[in-house]
Amino acid sequence: MERLAIGSETGRRLQPAPGIDRLVMPLPFQGLDRVNAYALSDGDGGISLVDCGIFQEGRGAGPLKEALTASGAALKDVRRLVITHPHPDHYGLASLLVEKTGCELWMHSDARADLDVYRDPGAAADTLSAALAHHGVPASELTELRAYEDWRPFISGVVEASHWLEGEELLTDGARSWQVIHTPGHDRAHVCLWSQSDGLLISGDTLLSSITPHVDHRGELGADPLGDFLASLGRLEELDPSLVLPGHGRPFDAGAERARAIAAHHQRRLGSILQVIRRRACTAAEVAQEVFGPELLHYQHRLALGETIAHLEYLRLRSEAEMSEKDGIYMYAKAKR
Ligand SMILES: [Zn+2]
Repeated sequence: MERLAIGSETGRRLQPAPGIDRLVMPLPFQGLDRVNAYALSDGDGGISLVDCGIFQEGRGAGPLKEALTASGAALKDVRRLVITHPHPDHYGLASLLVEKTGCELWMHSDARADLDVYRDPGAAADTLSAALAHHGVPASELTELRAYEDWRPFISGVVEASHWLEGEELLTDGARSWQVIHTPGHDRAHVCLWSQSDGLLISGDTLLSSITPHVDHRGELGADPLGDFLASLGRLEELDPSLVLPGHGRPFDAGAERARAIAAHHQRRLGSILQVIRRRACTAAEVAQEVFGPELLHYQHRLALGETIAHLEYLRLRSEAEMSEKDGIYMYAKAKR
């Protein structure tokens, strides 16, 4: 396979490969203060944009415009927007961009469920609270956790795709052909873009260099986001990308190695959780406290709960853990062999 000639570190950061500009935009979150979008030139003055950054009241499309200008392009050049996953930091400006440019919007069809949460966060919070109550989260904490279901301040509107993706589609831009790879786990609708000819992977939040992507679980039994995520990592490892263009942070090489390291992190966590439920049956809320510590801030608490349930359900669905129910509360224990 022909491999990419990589330029200087500075050049590589902002133009990681010919015809690709990395656009870095600010985020209003502590600990995660930037997001990347990628502008793919079609060789004819137009661009496909992969992700578009977050919406913040009063700033409109400003940060995206500035980033495009710095790369020598303009908003009007955007002919297509591909969303790796519909989280606000990647999808936030989508409706504004479609309205201003009339561009196509490509997104995986499983994103419809995420869009429903944006449309009716109250209903989503009710469903989530009911599910988390079964996992042992006390009513007093549920009230606080409800707040994290309403992301409307960070999206310019809810816009549907003009092209719903299922995975494996081909997107041709200039000299390059990108294959859509469905990589559920971080979000059920997550897709990566893979350019086989030069080993380039636009990875969204499925492969990040210094962060382990969050794997959430909304508490309803049977969903297996961690199983999905590990399968997605396996697929990316097989592709063996030579250069990864992530949703946060700088481009990096050795994508297969990073995929293995992230999978190993989850295997270790599965091991620690089995240790906890080997001693006695616990609720997910209790396991989260033991594994992540008791003094989490509210949003970290929400993330820790989702992550813990994802691991417990992964173990239960593979008969490594058993679940019993008492007075509507789910208790997990290591399976007896
Ligand atoms: Zn992200």
